[in-house]
Amino acid sequence: MKVIDHINQAKKTLFSIEILPPLKGQTIDSIFSTMDQLMEFQPAFVDVTYHREEYVFRNAGNGLLEKTVVRKRPGTVGICAAITNRYKVDTVPHIICGGFTKQDTEDALIDLHFVGVDNILVLRGDPIKSEGRFVAEPGGHSYAKDLVDQAVNMNAGKYLDPDLKDTTKSNFCIGVAGYPEKHFESPNMKTDLRHLKAKIDAGAEYIVTQMFFDNEAYFKFVDDCRAIGITVPIIPGLKPLTTKSQLQVLPHYFHINLPEELVDLVEHSKSDKDVKQIGIDWCIRQSKELMERGAPVLHYYTMGKADTTKAIAKAVF
Ligand code: FAD
Repeated sequence: MKVIDHINQAKKTLFSIEILPPLKGQTIDSIFSTMDQLMEFQPAFVDVTYHREEYVFRNAGNGLLEKTVVRKRPGTVGICAAITNRYKVDTVPHIICGGFTKQDTEDALIDLHFVGVDNILVLRGDPIKSEGRFVAEPGGHSYAKDLVDQAVNMNAGKYLDPDLKDTTKSNFCIGVAGYPEKHFESPNMKTDLRHLKAKIDAGAEYIVTQMFFDNEAYFKFVDDCRAIGITVPIIPGLKPLTTKSQLQVLPHYFHINLPEELVDLVEHSKSDKDVKQIGIDWCIRQSKELMERGAPVLHYYTMGKADTTKAIAKAVF
């Protein structure tokens, strides 16, 4: 079932989660363990992230270093199929521009259509570490909007090869990312919102936000979106803070702010256990307010930590 249908048919705020594929070589059991712990809260859908290739330098044994491509967390499509098969829950694979030609994307979408996936979250992807800024694959897309166009075309039966006849139409519900505190590359919020609107105008049916720790950022973002004519559901993405080091790590990697009150609480905490509890309590407070003010779905970034999401869901749902 499509995410948009889940939202339209719901009489209350829905619960959903995002999970990461395990590191290459690890078992899928960690995913099943996360799912086992969270199924009691009836997730409406489960997002599975996609991780592009990275470059590592390995000792070639002759005093030289060899540049090698590694994909650390493969398996997004397989995990989606496994989850749907085992738990009868809808999945949302993330599809990115980075590292993909349009042909690669088309083939990936065909695979997803054939395994019965109804939803995709369409993203550009971040620059890889060896590149300062995002560089599209030759013959690939530069922006998420272009990938939305390709998926919309495929939903209409339009494939890249114009000579294909009697083509099957896919039927994906397409989601895109939004940034309550602005995407880090955008020169200003207004420009970022204009680009977000272009993704919606192209055919995306809902938005999932980057994590935020101050609900006012989300409420303002929703107001600003509505003011420029973005009418689709805007799903807040939530992540409980779990360690003291995340005070630096989260702003660094996700380009988000942490409220002073939360920072004070964490800085004055005595143990890792205390920090985790502070993070859980903060996220419960955020979740309850978002729910009261009508958020369509509360979407939790589990990052492989089912216990914290479980504690929050128990208090909220
Ligand atoms: P876009 O919408 O393409 O925007 C990227 C930047 O370009 C923005 O600054 C935008 O304002 C600007 N822009 C857009 N269109 C134009 C234009 N025509 N001209 C000039 N500028 C333009 N990354 C992964 O690798 N894998 C994942 O699974 C993943 N999941 C995510 C899930 C969520 C909910 C979120 C919020 C992010 C996720 N990311 C993931 C990270 C995401 O790929 C990065 O944030 C990336 O830098 C931007 O992706 P986007 O889809 O928002 O890009």
